[in-house]
Formats: sequence, structure tokens, C-alpha cells
Amino acid sequence: MTATIIDGRAVAERLRQRVGQRTAQLRQQGLVPGLAVVLVGDDAASHIYVGSKTRQAQEAGLNHFDHRLPASTSTGELIALVMSLNARPDVHGILVQLPLPAGVDSAAVLATIDPAKDVDGFHPVNAGRLALGEDATVPCTPLGCLILIRETLPALTGKRALVIGRSNIVGKPMAQLLLQNDCTVTIAHSRTRDLPDECARAEILVAAIGRPKAIRGEWIREGAVVIDVGINRVDAGDGKSKVVGDVDYVTAVARAGAITPVPGGVGPMTIACLLINTLNAAVRARFGSSGELLRP
Ligand code: NAP
Repeated sequence: MTATIIDGRAVAERLRQRVGQRTAQLRQQGLVPGLAVVLVGDDAASHIYVGSKTRQAQEAGLNHFDHRLPASTSTGELIALVMSLNARPDVHGILVQLPLPAGVDSAAVLATIDPAKDVDGFHPVNAGRLALGEDATVPCTPLGCLILIRETLPALTGKRALVIGRSNIVGKPMAQLLLQNDCTVTIAHSRTRDLPDECARAEILVAAIGRPKAIRGEWIREGAVVIDVGINRVDAGDGKSKVVGDVDYVTAVARAGAITPVPGGVGPMTIACLLINTLNAAVRARFGSSGELLRP
């Protein structure tokens, strides 16, 4: 078997177009969705991510407000900034790029964000609502993964799903989303006893561990849908580096039914979902529960 390659770039592009169309409609009604992005310090990868996020927000017609602060910024200063953004009516979404510098209390900063403006979906209120099955802003990466899974597998009910990784930003919300979609969900982590055995049962496998090529193709159930969240920079052997996923793509492609490549799979979906979350936050802020949300 050779897996179908799930083209995250193409799906993300279609979503961005829908965001752009809906934003154009809202602009005619005098509403311009606004995203505030807070970046602290000099982390090179964070600067690249934030650059992509603000560029794509702009291309979709959203307003963006950039706040770039030195690594010496204190927890108190960040909380004060977040509170001022909470109070601004032209800011509908607030994104604090992680990781924050050591010494900053990230949890305290994230908890200050108004849950209605928490477009990353990391606030305890949104995490709690998701766990309760209530209307919540869902973290962008797992939301993007779910969209790709749904594109590939129209019927999720009863499927055995394995999420490898239990982080608050990917693994746990991913498991919640699959559960909401009536999958039978297992969560694996670094203490899981027999990971190959868990993989062998999974009809849907989401890998989010941050270990290059750790999930071997021969572990994967024949025909499974494999979503590779990992972004790992490794030595390419020619003095350069390259990005690989958490799944050993070459061996996995021979067994999976469908698989996301790295790059070009989950990565582009994350930013597309950020735009959707910002758009929907603006609609809720203006129109309340009667507003027409963009449902991916
Ligand atoms: P994280 O916070 O470091 O969590 C990693 C999780 O993987 C932990 O739960 C850990 O278990 C588990 N784990 C580590 N090694 C394992 C192993 N050998 N077997 C089984 N489980 C293992 O990472 P994260 O933030 O969730 O990110 C995961 C990956 O996704 C990273 O490569 C990251 O760069 C990538 N990512 C991509 C996007 C995107 O847009 N595509 C977005 C976010 C993250 P314990 O809990 O037991 O330690």
C-alpha cells in the first residue's frame, strides 16, 4: 500500500480564502477582525512563526497589532500589556507567542487573556469548556489536525484513535476533539509501556512528541490515517539542516492509508485555524450568539 498524501497546504489555502471572503463581508458591516501578537525575546523560530502569522492575517484582510518586546520584559509588564489589549475593542484576538523567556510566568500571562480573545485556546476556561464538550475556542494545531482527519475520513464514529503526546497545546485537546467526534481514544506518552502495540490498533494516529522519526512505519496499522504534528530540525548531512516529523515518513508511507507530510501537512493548518479563531472571536464580540461563525 502507498498512502495518500494529505495536502495540508492546499486545505489551509482553501480555509484562508474562506476567511478572506467572510472578512470582506464583515468589513462592509464596519467590522474588521483584529489580532494582537505579542512576541518577547529573540527566539529565531518564534520570529519566523510570528512573521508568517501576521503576514497571513494581513493577506486575509484582518488587522494585526504587533508588540515586540525585549527578553528582559517582566511578568508584570506582560500582564499589564495583555490587560490593555483585553480592553481594546479593535482587538478581537490576543496571541502571546510561546515559549516566553525563562523567568516569565507563562501560565499567569496566559490566564490574564480574556477567554473571549484567547484565539490560541490555551486559557483554562477554554480548555475546561473543551473538556466539558461546551462551545470553546479550540487550540489551532489540534483543530487543524481534526480538519485534515475529517477531509480524509468522513465517518469518525467508533474509530480507534491514538494520540501520542499529552501536552496541553496539542495532545490533550486533540484527544478531546477526537472523543467529541465519537472516536475511541487512547493517549500515549513517554511512560507508555508498549507504544508499537498501541500503534498497531490505531485507525487514526496523531503523533505530537517532538522526537524526529520516532514512530516507525512497521508499527503503523495497515491503512491508518497518520497525522504527523512534529517539527524537528535535524542535520541534513551536507552542513545544512532540514525539518522532519515525529513519524518515519519513508517507512510509514508504505503502510498508512493516508499521511501528512512534514513540511506541508499540519504546519500550514495551524495558522489558517488561528485566522478562523480570530474571525469567529470578532463575530462573537459584535453579534453575540446570533453571529454567523465560520465552521471549518
Ligand atoms: P511537548 O510539550 O514537548 O510534549 C511532548 C509529549 O510527547 C509529552 O507528552 C511527552 O510525554 C511525549 N513524548 C515524548 N517522547 C515520547 C516518546 N518517545 N514516546 C511517547 N511519547 C513521548 O511537545 P508539543 O508542544 O506537544 O509538540 C510536539 C511536537 O509538535 C513538536 O515537534 C512541536 O514542534 C510540534 N508542534 C507543531 C505544531 C505545528 O503547527 N505543526 C504546533 C505545535 C507543536 P510526557 O508527557 O510523558 O513527557
